[in-house]
Amino acid sequence: MSNCVFCNIETERILNNYNYFITFRDLYPVTDLHTLIVPKRHAVSYFELRDNELIELAKIIKYQKNELTNLDKTISGFNIGMNIGEDAGQTVFHCHVHIIPRRKGDVKNPKGGIRGVIPDKKIY
Ligand code: AMP
Ligand code: ZN
Repeated sequence: MSNCVFCNIETERILNNYNYFITFRDLYPVTDLHTLIVPKRHAVSYFELRDNELIELAKIIKYQKNELTNLDKTISGFNIGMNIGEDAGQTVFHCHVHIIPRRKGDVKNPKGGIRGVIPDKKIY
């Protein structure tokens, strides 16, 4: 799509070029090495992905875990996820999986992780 930011990522920013996906670093990283896995095809969300893409995506998440932990030995955890739909916080309407590396002490209390999308429900 001509007006889609992820359809028009500069080639030099692409870190991995898989069959159906590319990766690049998030421009406004939540943590250092925050990476996005993005289908080459313009699909709005995970729910539009085809079976062959879904199979590759599952593998890429593991490849990325290995690449990132090899690159930075301080990474001790990950938050991996997607915002799907405006009401869930999606701002770029081209499917992407956030791979957010986590490190000991990067926040005061990491408990609850992605439960923090509803801030007052984060701790249970
Ligand atoms: P979401 O809210 O899940 O749609 O997230 C969109 C993500 O894309 C955010 O984390 C942004 O920082 C990131 N982003 C926006 N524009 C760019 C860009 N040109 N290159 C890389 N990441 C981007
Ligand atoms: Zn697109």
